Amino acid sequence: MKTVRTATELPRADSLGLVPTMGAFHDGHLSLFRAAREENELVVVSLFVNPAQFAPGEDLDRYPRDEERDAALADDSGVDVLFIPDADEIYPPGFQTWVEVEELGSILEGEHRPGHFRGVATVCLKLFNLVRPDRAYFGQKDAQQAAVIRRMARDLAVPVDIRVCPTVRDEDGLALSSRNAYLSPEEREAALALPRALEARDRSLLNGLPVDYFEEADFEPRVLAAAVRVGRTRLIDNVVLEGERP
Ligand code: AMP
Repeated sequence: MKTVRTATELPRADSLGLVPTMGAFHDGHLSLFRAAREENELVVVSLFVNPAQFAPGEDLDRYPRDEERDAALADDSGVDVLFIPDADEIYPPGFQTWVEVEELGSILEGEHRPGHFRGVATVCLKLFNLVRPDRAYFGQKDAQQAAVIRRMARDLAVPVDIRVCPTVRDEDGLALSSRNAYLSPEEREAALALPRALEARDRSLLNGLPVDYFEEADFEPRVLAAAVRVGRTRLIDNVVLEGERP
């Protein structure tokens, strides 16, 4: 595996799969790398902790970072190129062009994290233009993000096939997330209420955790999505409702 820091070093291929990430890899990320590996000649993983998708006061500064560990995990999963751009490569001096997915980007997560999806859509379009993938891989764990990116690709005729892979969970049901690293053992136990409540479609099982939302949304597929706070940590998760009556 090659690590590159500028777009000019990125190789081209007849079929190229891109997995955009913010690093701190876990099995959820690795499942996307493997899916990309199966369907493409060349697999590029981008690692960029995108300041534009964090609101002031969020966890940008303490977001877990470990490039060396991530490079070893990506290498083991068959990734060809790890692209770790500097902020200047993504946001050159004078940057002022943003992608706003108006409706899908303003509900649920968008309502609670103003500007979040503007940052996500913009960085993804920028990465698509730099890497020029045939396919890009996202996790169902972030169902609204996948819906926003799919909408953007359709609306702006971005020539990329958006692939969405199932949520990977720990054995006890907690969805894997880089932010799980913030949880104390007691908080991790309390966090299990989130997958349990979603699985049972029963908000009362959240056991008094502060809730940002617990709502159905049609993100193709339709999901029941929730965001809760466990101590200082904000967790999101969802279950697919396909086949269930709306
Ligand atoms: P992140 O590094 O958190 O921005 O995530 C990079 C990609 O991995 C996104 O498309 C996420 O939806 C996906 N992802 C994160 N956690 C999981 C998980 N538990 N299962 C499947 N995909 C995931």
